[in-house]
Amino acid sequence: MNKPLVAVLSGAGISTDSGIPDYRGPNGLWRRDPEAEKLVTYDHYMHDPEIRRRSWQQRRENRTLRARPNAAHRAVVDLERSGTPVRVITQNVDGLHQLAGLPARKVLELHGTARSVVCTKCAARGPMEDALARVEAGEPDPPCLECGGILKSATVMFGERLDPVVLGEALAITKACTVFVAVGSSLQVQPAAGLAGVAADHGARLIVVNAEPTPYDDRAHEVVREPIGTSLPALLSRLADSAF
Ligand code: ZN
Repeated sequence: MNKPLVAVLSGAGISTDSGIPDYRGPNGLWRRDPEAEKLVTYDHYMHDPEIRRRSWQQRRENRTLRARPNAAHRAVVDLERSGTPVRVITQNVDGLHQLAGLPARKVLELHGTARSVVCTKCAARGPMEDALARVEAGEPDPPCLECGGILKSATVMFGERLDPVVLGEALAITKACTVFVAVGSSLQVQPAAGLAGVAADHGARLIVVNAEPTPYDDRAHEVVREPIGTSLPALLSRLADSAF
């Protein structure tokens, strides 16, 4: 018999133990600092070379690329290795689920990834590391090597649409899963918030693991407030052992 599918929706809270602050959330760093928000707003980025220069400097200093996965990321990998079908839908751009050992095809990155760059003209992609090495070597705003277009981080900036393909897959997984674990997400930013509702509507067992209350707590079968680094491994190992 096939084991039922577990969907894990992860937000900033799962990466806090890896030293990555919440940038994008309702109370995240970007929302509290209009100047910082400009650096990740598409129109400002595309039309202002100075914003781009500052963005590249900010990416150099950013801790995201140096961060290591923590116990919560590893717990998701353990669940997958136990033979339970798992898909991760993440609001994070840090790539830590994959770095922990989860196959990339099992991770949907709603907001893209900070580990790659993409050309805004020809859509060529490349490693962020290579682009940062060019900045380091004296190119303050390195253009695309293919076409000379403006390069940006492969993350979804404010003012950009989410990838409809990724979104469609996330929705399909949400509708198909038996258990939907929302971990470290305030569930206040779309589409993540909506997905929790869709999961519940389609009969999934909704489990919310978050330090703060979320708008979906009253629809959840289980709400966990304990620190993610210890509570998620316990929860997922319980799921791996159970027939749900
Ligand atoms: Zn290009």
